Amino acid sequence: MPTATTERRPAEAPRRLSTPEELRRWSERCRAAGLIVGLVPTMGALHAGHRSLVQRARADCDRVVVSIFVNPRQFGPGEDIDRYPRSLDDDVRFVTEERADAVFVPTVAAMYGESAATTVHVDASITGVLEGAHRPGHFDGVALVVAKLLIACRPHRAYFGQKDAQQCAVVRRLARDLDTGVEIAVCPVVRDDDGLAVSSRNAYLNGDDRRRALAIPVGLSAAAAAFASGEHHPAALCALVRRPMEEAGFAVDYVAAVDADSLAAVDVAGPGCQILVAGRMGATRLIDVIRLGIDRPPLDAAGSHGAQVPGVIGIQGRE
Ligand code: AMP
Repeated sequence: MPTATTERRPAEAPRRLSTPEELRRWSERCRAAGLIVGLVPTMGALHAGHRSLVQRARADCDRVVVSIFVNPRQFGPGEDIDRYPRSLDDDVRFVTEERADAVFVPTVAAMYGESAATTVHVDASITGVLEGAHRPGHFDGVALVVAKLLIACRPHRAYFGQKDAQQCAVVRRLARDLDTGVEIAVCPVVRDDDGLAVSSRNAYLNGDDRRRALAIPVGLSAAAAAFASGEHHPAALCALVRRPMEEAGFAVDYVAAVDADSLAAVDVAGPGCQILVAGRMGATRLIDVIRLGIDRPPLDAAGSHGAQVPGVIGIQGRE
């Protein structure tokens, strides 16, 4: 992997790109000039989690493009895409302040046109479990849009958040299987001061539900502490996460201890094994993850979460 070569430019409005063709031409010009291109795919409503990805990309790359696209293909029939928060003006300001070089904001028609007869399906062992079991077809939509973004942009690196741990496994797999040559960089979960993972969906939580939602970082912290004390039994660790969630009123979709790549349930939880969790607080669905033996507990004993050091926690594709 070549390294970034140029001084950053001062903050100025990022180049606005609206079609895959414009994205391709912008990226080709960058590559032709010998510049390292980083891509940060998002669905907008940008927050501190997205910021960590953009900042990481800026540190690694000469040119950074942030895509903002609420991808209809990854929303199921029962999921209200119209309810998804949208704040394009704020997002463009955010991207400008973070000094990204370009922002890709296509319409649905520009992305899919009339003739989107192609699907991208990563094996059901990875896409049919956990999130995939609760959101049928979700990862086909994710795989399609990510494949299209990687093909149009051909970045040297693309940045994703560990918070969507299963999405990371899907994207790593498709980037590898399709010989994209794109490095997939995974950045740590960014949390609010109280330990709750930052998410666009947190905006839906009222004050009381927001407090109840802390059962997730509380449970993940309990599992991390138990693991550190020698508890390696997946069911016991998962119970420590599930119990406070249920007590807080979550409808728990799953709590599972899995291998980070295959997403297969583990018999014995070892270092790097991940506990993935999803639950509904009222109408709001939240997901979170902890990597046992690696991540600091979301809450420490004093009740404040350990600050995550921004950085890349794993890169696939490095030569
Ligand atoms: P989204 O806009 O929700 O599709 O997210 C875009 C990217 O930001 C995905 O790769 C997410 O995993 C990542 N992301 C979202 N929330 C966080 C967070 N709290 N910490 C780190 N990355 C995040």
